[in-house]
Amino acid sequence: MYTHTIFGPIHSRRLGTSLGVNLMPNDGKICSFDCLYCEAGYNAQGHGTSGLPSRAQVARLLEQKLAAMHAAGQGLDVITFSGNGEPTLHPAFAGIIDDVISLRDRYFPQARVTVLSNSTMLAHEEVVNALRRIDNCCLKLDSAIDRTIALLDRPTNPNFTAEHVIERIAAVGPQVIVQTMITRGSHEGVEVDNSTDAEIAALIEAYRRIRPREIQLYSLDRPTPELSLQKVPRAELDAIAERITAATGIHVAVVG
Ligand code: SF4
Repeated sequence: MYTHTIFGPIHSRRLGTSLGVNLMPNDGKICSFDCLYCEAGYNAQGHGTSGLPSRAQVARLLEQKLAAMHAAGQGLDVITFSGNGEPTLHPAFAGIIDDVISLRDRYFPQARVTVLSNSTMLAHEEVVNALRRIDNCCLKLDSAIDRTIALLDRPTNPNFTAEHVIERIAAVGPQVIVQTMITRGSHEGVEVDNSTDAEIAALIEAYRRIRPREIQLYSLDRPTPELSLQKVPRAELDAIAERITAATGIHVAVVG
């Protein structure tokens, strides 16, 4: 759970110095998925009481932070939208992206703006156009099989289908990065496993249609609400990555 709208900076070998933006509440979660592995916990915890930060608040808090970092001579490599839910659900998402890009240009023009999204709002043109304006548009696709998406990601919209989301991710454009969490376990007695041969074959077909700039495969990193989920070993992720690259010609990064 992130307790602030602007959090960090966090230092990592992979991203460098990263500042986080949480457009969702600071004491609750709002998401159009309810993933078994969500680091923010299940949606059942509720929306909290703090509400969503306004566009003006996000801009003010980010500017304060960027100005302080700049004055202190600190560096910044990336501004990442993640947090307690799905950032594109914020009603002012597109305007916030414009503000963040302009603040980035003013204080740290070399920093990249990254959004981690679950791909559920791609039917909204203003969201898609905003995602096209950023540097790293990272879109989630955990499975190309409806039943697995229903078990693992648990969309709140009962009409959500793999077919629609694959089509919409492809329509964003060749700059997209597709992120796929690979895991297995069970929930309420039902087995879930998106590392099987059939799952990877279906994902390969989806990646062929999307033609993303990159695919990022990862597995669990932190404790998950569904305790039975397992971290898939690095060697297995590497083998899956090789299979995907051999079949699609697309670069696959194994993250973590
Ligand atoms: S999409 Fe992201 S924020 Fe939403 S439930 Fe899944 S992991 Fe959590």
